[in-house]
Formats: sequence, C-alpha cells, structure tokens
Amino acid sequence: MKTFRLTMKYLVLLLVAVLLCSYLFLADESTNDKAQRIHEGVLTLDTHVDINPKDFTRKRHLGMSLNADVDLLKMKEGGLDAAFFIVYVGQGDLSPEAYTKANLKAQLKFDAIHRMTQTLNHDLIVLARTPKEVRAIHAAGKKVAIIGVENAYPLGTDINNLDGYFDQGARYISLVHNGHNQFGDSNYPKGDDPISKHHGVTELGKQLIARANQLGVMVDISHASKKTALHTLALSQAPVIASHSSVAMLHAHTRNVDDDVLMAIKRNNGVIHVVAFRSYLKPTAGKKLEAINVLAKKYKLPQGSFWEEGDRVFSAIRKLPAAQRLAYFNEFRQIVKTYEHASIQDLVDHIDYVVEKIGIEHVGISSDFGGGGGVTGWEDASKTLNVTAELIKRGYSETDIENIWSGNLLRVWEDVISYANK
Ligand SMILES: [Zn+2]
Repeated sequence: MKTFRLTMKYLVLLLVAVLLCSYLFLADESTNDKAQRIHEGVLTLDTHVDINPKDFTRKRHLGMSLNADVDLLKMKEGGLDAAFFIVYVGQGDLSPEAYTKANLKAQLKFDAIHRMTQTLNHDLIVLARTPKEVRAIHAAGKKVAIIGVENAYPLGTDINNLDGYFDQGARYISLVHNGHNQFGDSNYPKGDDPISKHHGVTELGKQLIARANQLGVMVDISHASKKTALHTLALSQAPVIASHSSVAMLHAHTRNVDDDVLMAIKRNNGVIHVVAFRSYLKPTAGKKLEAINVLAKKYKLPQGSFWEEGDRVFSAIRKLPAAQRLAYFNEFRQIVKTYEHASIQDLVDHIDYVVEKIGIEHVGISSDFGGGGGVTGWEDASKTLNVTAELIKRGYSETDIENIWSGNLLRVWEDVISYANK
C-alpha cells in the first residue's frame, strides 16, 4: 500500500512536471513564434505605397535591394504579401493644359507598375484586378500588386477617363489631394483658397462617384475635407474606403477622420486603413518648426514647413540647384526623425480606437511608405511582422488579424464589385 502511494505521488509529480513543461513551451509559442506563425498564415495587405517611376527601370527596380521603404526583398523579409501601388499626381491648375500634363504624369506611374508586373519582376509580383485574383496570386506564392489612384485631378473634366484608368488596373480613387479641385474640397486648401470652397463634392465629383460605383472602383476619402468625406459617404451607393487616414479623436490633424466620419463609414459598411504616418498619429514636439525654420534660413527659403505651407515653400525648394535640394531634403528628413516619435504602439492605439468605436470589421492598416510614412518599429516593409506582433499583444485573435490586414478591405472591394455588376 505504501509503495502504491509512493508510486502515485511520483506519478502526480511527473504529471505536474509534464504540464509545466508544455505550459512553458506553449507560453514561448505565444510570443515570437506565435507572431511569426500568424503573420505567415494571414494575407497582409498595405493599402498605400507611393512609388517613384525611377525605381521601375532595368537598371533600378524593386527586385533589387533599394534604398527605399518598399522593394520586393523587403516585402519578402517582412512578410508583406500585397500592396496598393499608388498613381499619385499633385494638385495643379484647373486648366485643360494642366490636366493633360497631369494625365501624362499619371500615365508614367501606371506604366511603371505595369513594367514591374509584366517584365522587370513578373516572376515575383503579379497585378491583381479582383479580390479573387489577390487570393489566387497569394496562394501561388507570389507578391500581389494592386493599383490605387491618389487624386482624381488628372482625369480632367471628362468622367469617362476613369474607364481608361480602370482598364489599366486602377481599383480605388481619391477625389482630392492637397488643394481643392474640380471634384471637391481637400482637407488642405492651397494658396488663397478658403477652407471650404465647394462645401463638399462638386457636380463633377458626383458624376465621378457614380461612375466609380458603376465600374467597381472603390472611392477613397483620404485627403478629403470632412464635408467632402461625409458627402462622398452619402452619395456612394457602394462601400467607401479611407485608404490612409488615422483618428482625429486621438490627434486632431485635418488628415484624420473624426467620430462623425467613422460612424458614416460604419453605416456605409466601409473600411478605414489607419496609416503609419508619424505626424497624423501623435502631435509632434514643438521644437520641430523651429528647427525647420533654422534650416529654411540656411537655404534662403521662406519660413515654414512645406507640409503645412504647401506651394509657397515648395516652389522655392524646387528652385534650388539639384545638389542643394537633395541636401535640404536630407536635413529635413533628419528633423522629422528627431521630432516626430510615433511608434507601432501609437499606430495600434488608433486601430484599437476604431475597433471600439465602429467595430473590427471596419479597420485596416496602411503604411504610406514612399510618401512620408513609417513609424518606429515599422520603418520599412521588412519590419511588417512587428505590426502583427503588436496586434497579438493587444489580444487580437488570428481571425481578427486576418480581417484587419486584408479581410475587411477584400470584403469591401467585393461589395463594390457586386454593386457594379447589378
Ligand atoms: Zn496621401
């Protein structure tokens, strides 16, 4: 009997030891390995990556290790599976000549993306035109390129030009960028423009939204004024996206959306892709502008930052000799790095806010890499795993993370296509 009790005691001890070991093993899995496993298992999609056509040539392309936030090697290293590459053209005059020029600029970017997927890097990355294609390309082990248009300005005044962009692969379009235009008001008026010029979307803007709905192009409210955003959400018959905007309640920047817009996105069944853009996530240290002004003096430029002052400062910078201009931007970037401190934690704070306010089915992630985006911890595409790791720390499940990274956007896109097919 005594021996039996002793054996039982050892057996219980052994059982406890086994349980403890497996607990420790699982606990270890729940940190780095879990992040790695979940990150590899989900389809990660970034809705905003700016491009420079100079990175899409035989001599210099995304298949090489570039001094850029995104190249295909960094996407592989960071497990970033899909990205909207952006056809962006800055706002200019509202004249036929200027529209033609802007359209040529847009064409250079369409051509660059097509060169990447058709010749330069066709073995690594494929252009997707539907959510189904996104999933199929990903399943085949290749990276996915999708095209988004930032600023409808180059379309000019003929809405049918959108059909041409659609044929070339454009699957989302924002009405405006910095500066009001023929389609509506921007969050950022240029020159002498009043804060609100059209009080939302113009007649031409309404036609554009209607045509986008008919074609199956997602309408993007990023860079729109609040009125334009709400107006767009009311006009669109299909769900709308904010491709790269954050939350105004956490940082009152005009590029961010407030609760009224968030609630409208919820009602519209749309999605907001919170953006890893330092100055939208967190107020910057007060000394930043001081440092920028010291720099401006050094280069004999007008006072102020070109982000806030726009054209007035920017046109002066453009007049600098090339070498000086490059040196200026290098120093400017250094200032931004020194005074803007947003991190992945700040980014995920904005995600948490959207989830609590309007639900997890309405949030996604974007970097704005190549356009000033990137935060501490997610400095370039090679660090994308860190975002998933932070989401896990906050308690999001694998399904949640899949939906945040791509499921929500693909659902919205499918809805937009269903509406177009009706
Ligand atoms: Zn932008």
